[in-house]
Amino acid sequence: MSSMIIRNIGAIVTGDIAGPTVEGDTIVVREGLIDFVGPESKADTTDISSVIDAAGSTVLPGLCDNHVHPVIGDYTPRQRALDFIDSSLHGGVTTMMSAGEPHTPGRPTDPIGVKALTILAHKSFAKLRPSGVRVHAGAVMLEPGLSEADFVEMAAAGVRLVAEIGISGVKDVDEAATMTGWAQKLGMRVMVHTGGASIPGSGVIGADFVVKVQPDVAGHTNGGPTALPLADVERILEETSARVEVVHNGNVKAAGEVAALAARRDELHRVVIGTDSPAGSGVQPLGILRVMSWVASLGGVAPEAAVAMATGNIAALHSLPVGVIEAGRPADLVVVDAPLGSQAEDAMGALAIGDTLAVATAIIDGVWRFTKSRNTPPTTRPVIFHQ
Ligand SMILES: [Zn+2]
Repeated sequence: MSSMIIRNIGAIVTGDIAGPTVEGDTIVVREGLIDFVGPESKADTTDISSVIDAAGSTVLPGLCDNHVHPVIGDYTPRQRALDFIDSSLHGGVTTMMSAGEPHTPGRPTDPIGVKALTILAHKSFAKLRPSGVRVHAGAVMLEPGLSEADFVEMAAAGVRLVAEIGISGVKDVDEAATMTGWAQKLGMRVMVHTGGASIPGSGVIGADFVVKVQPDVAGHTNGGPTALPLADVERILEETSARVEVVHNGNVKAAGEVAALAARRDELHRVVIGTDSPAGSGVQPLGILRVMSWVASLGGVAPEAAVAMATGNIAALHSLPVGVIEAGRPADLVVVDAPLGSQAEDAMGALAIGDTLAVATAIIDGVWRFTKSRNTPPTTRPVIFHQ
């Protein structure tokens, strides 16, 4: 691995909701890690092998998608699409969190089959990084008959996620609460599906269920695809410590309302963003960028906070080292700008008026993965790459 400098940065948005911006125009990357953030006059620029001249554009942490439904590899049978993960990278996404692998053809529902599939998905994506993207998969779908010993075995194999409860066989709230307790004791993060049914066979889940189960995440509170009443979201914020998720595959108006509610309660750190892709509404390469713009423009939330909901807030939830721009962290970054033709002057201004950001490049482990996004419009400022 080599070294890189990003200079002439117009704004650095850190992803940390407690300190969303940092002074400086320069980021230096060495050996895949962020080495320096600040003014170029203070940077050590010896032995730099590649240079990005950001031309006044904005740098964010690589975006995290808190809600994807992968299977194996960069293929989704849900929409019969290849390379949906690579497509999302071109929308700035460098990390994906599985909310379950329900689209697996012939998905087993007996305990040994559930365990095998979960461990396979986890171990497969631990070795495979499609286009460099970090996919954290192997989210166990709860089925009747799973025992505490099964959870111990899965945890020992590295499984850290429980798929959104409500889309698999366990529908009974007491059974869901019991299994959630086993999983959380082992350090797993548990999500509950909320709102209306997503596909035939999944149920309607409201605040009563979430309060009883006490998960780590109330999934897609703005709908997946049909939204909860806002009063239920407020009860979840009041009576649990769960994060509330807002997704692309949901109700657009409710996305703004949930964000505004969290802002009124001074709990923006509890909002996380996902796509819920692939879904009936498709694969959504720009889904995270779009939800960030909904939350900022419709929810009236500061654009820098919207960025944190798709980066640092998710990293904090899952105890990941990515998601924040800070020396010592993995150098997963995106260079973004107002899209060419936007009425806004810069990236944060574009989010505030509801525009989808333009991505100049995504960097993973200190390596830029492309020099022109194939999915966003061009940036207003011409970003230049030298190697
Ligand atoms: Zn769901």
